[in-house]
Amino acid sequence: MEITIDPDAGFCIGVTRAIRMAEEAAKKGPVATLGDIVHNPEEVQRLKNKGIGSVTHTDLPKMQGSVILLRAHGEPPSTYETAQLCDLNLIDATCPIVAGVQKKIKKAYKEALTVNGQIAIYGKPGHPETIGLKGQTENTAIVISEKADLDTIDYNRPLWLFAQTTMQPAKFSLIAGEIRKRFIQAGRNPDEMLRVSSTICRYVSGREAKIREFARRFDVIVFVSGANSSNGNYLYSCCKEENPRSYFVSHADELKKEWFSGASSAGISGATSTPQWLMEEVKNRIMELEK
Ligand code: SF4
Repeated sequence: MEITIDPDAGFCIGVTRAIRMAEEAAKKGPVATLGDIVHNPEEVQRLKNKGIGSVTHTDLPKMQGSVILLRAHGEPPSTYETAQLCDLNLIDATCPIVAGVQKKIKKAYKEALTVNGQIAIYGKPGHPETIGLKGQTENTAIVISEKADLDTIDYNRPLWLFAQTTMQPAKFSLIAGEIRKRFIQAGRNPDEMLRVSSTICRYVSGREAKIREFARRFDVIVFVSGANSSNGNYLYSCCKEENPRSYFVSHADELKKEWFSGASSAGISGATSTPQWLMEEVKNRIMELEK
């Protein structure tokens, strides 16, 4: 059976950079990341074995003088204030693309304050990146994750709309379209009242079309991802829509021989949080199952 690893799968540049920074720092001494560096337990364990631990925000006051790495998702200003108060040595591995979105939101927020405007972020409530983005607005931004959240917007006030970088572009367009409609219903001109910044990362927005095409090319698809990765669950659903013989695994032990019965080709893909070594491991295990 021909087995191919998707060349577009695996870590995005932001995550690759953060892991490289953590590994470099660990060569010089103990380092901990603030939250898991990536939504993948296998990779988190691999880094733990190298002495790179993970701490939570509540641990910070007890960590005076420690080296703490901020992951690619970014952090709100309050984290930097805590770090200063607790005398932490920060390594800031915020993805440059996320940092750029934070800056844009901060600038828009300042402008919004002068015209009684509002900031809205299409994102997942509680997602670390969205917490970091919302923090740029003194936590006043409205987080929109579903249509019902649009009722919390005041359509008589100007609105700046942004997105968490990992959201789905098609849904963002729908949300923006619905907001425009509601401004019109309120008797307001959306061209004057609404400013939309499509801040979805190109690495994520381009992936869907590519993975759909990849999923159609093989008899069987094995999608490798941590179960708690939202990007992973979404990309897997795209595979399943294109190829009913698509299977989700978090590690090689979950593979089943019967999935490959009668197949002459298998494609292996993964989320932006899936390490290359894990996909290689899955490939090797499929080859063993064939014997
Ligand atoms: S998905 Fe894009 S914005 Fe998010 S960490 Fe990766 S490269 Fe950066």
